[in-house]
Amino acid sequence: MTAVFHRSLAHDYPVAVSGEGIVIRDSQGRSYIDASGGAAVSCLGHSHPDVLAAMHAQLDSLAYAHTSFFTTEVAEELAEMLVADAPAGMSHVYFLSGGSEAIETALKLARQYFVEIGQPQRRHIIGRRQSYHGNTLGALAVGHNAGRRVQYAPLLIETHHVSPTYGYRHRAAGETPEAYGARLAAELAEEIERLGPDSVIAFIAETVGGATCGAITAPPGYFRAVREICDQHGILLILDEVMCGMGRTGTLHACEQEGVAPDLMTIAKGLGGGFAPIGAVLVADKVFQAFDRGSKLFQHGHTYLGHALACAAGLAVQKVIRRDNLLANVRAQGAHLTRRLAERFGNHHHVGDIRGRGLFQAIEIVADRGTKETFDPALKLHARIKAEAMARGLMVYPSGGTADGIRGDHVLIAPPFIVDAGDIDTIVERLAEAVDASL
Ligand code: PLP
Repeated sequence: MTAVFHRSLAHDYPVAVSGEGIVIRDSQGRSYIDASGGAAVSCLGHSHPDVLAAMHAQLDSLAYAHTSFFTTEVAEELAEMLVADAPAGMSHVYFLSGGSEAIETALKLARQYFVEIGQPQRRHIIGRRQSYHGNTLGALAVGHNAGRRVQYAPLLIETHHVSPTYGYRHRAAGETPEAYGARLAAELAEEIERLGPDSVIAFIAETVGGATCGAITAPPGYFRAVREICDQHGILLILDEVMCGMGRTGTLHACEQEGVAPDLMTIAKGLGGGFAPIGAVLVADKVFQAFDRGSKLFQHGHTYLGHALACAAGLAVQKVIRRDNLLANVRAQGAHLTRRLAERFGNHHHVGDIRGRGLFQAIEIVADRGTKETFDPALKLHARIKAEAMARGLMVYPSGGTADGIRGDHVLIAPPFIVDAGDIDTIVERLAEAVDASL
């Protein structure tokens, strides 16, 4: 019996009681290696002493002060640190409580930006198919995770979607990655022309796709071409790094590896590492200046934005990442993970693709490696893999495929940045056992 309205009502959940390092323990005394950081959240693992100490210290002085009355030192310090390390041209940070709120905020910032600069006719947002930007209505509308979206379709604002960067399934035979990227960028340009360039507000994309397709990276040159197309028409580029950002791919921001700077960037999961709910929008100075020279009021706000305890958690997490040079470990252990996945799954009949970057990697499960045919979603393979992994003391983040063969089931692996090579070996071994037991 439970009074909690759980995510799924189809099964019971173990009761998590403690966590330390990369391990979570439940009330039955079982332990689980957190090889997905929950959903790519727990970048420092669990119970990191420095983060707990910083949070205790903040609690001793002030947990919360409403942002319509006050700012706090801790919010100011975290914003300064984020701006110092932000992509070129980004000057301000708007704090939220998570990823979906950050997306809603970015969409509204983008719309009001054009109102401020005298282009109120702009009203279209273009997103990509197979993307996920969150579960609130605006985020669902710009995203395109069919399963999460379909029953809410009547409530969603009108949006437009172009192809994802899903080379495993969509790159044509003989097409180079560069040509594939150019083809996708041209598709975006055509969609902008179709809608009318001066009616488009923004293009939004996950720099590395996460929850819907599993660690899909862009072909070389794609994001640079997208940036140029947006600039050509004065359209804002919103990069969603809620999942792939804050170090997960080996650089603080995934877009650093693409050589582009967005106008708005959403971050969340790795910002606070799960120690407190926190997200943010990093804002380009060009956008900020429009508000500062204009109405001086962003018509928005949430009760918990800039929450002092959440900012203290985020600040402590970010300090530890820098002090302990953890991004170097993400790169080194990411390379080890790539090797171990290739060894274990490279010839597996039911693993069609191994992809990703840093400690953000995935395997795509298919019925037949040769044809890329997907398993019947009714088999709920992803749920079985998750259960088999849990039974082996492993947390991974699987997601379902589609009946129409648009994508297969995939399993996302996103362990904390503190893993060592031995941890990675154990994770891959347990995962391989869980996959084989599920098929
Ligand atoms: N954007 C991306 C890329 C995500 O992966 C997620 C969550 O998985 C979100 C937005 C929504 O974040 P939240 O679940 O914190 O609302």
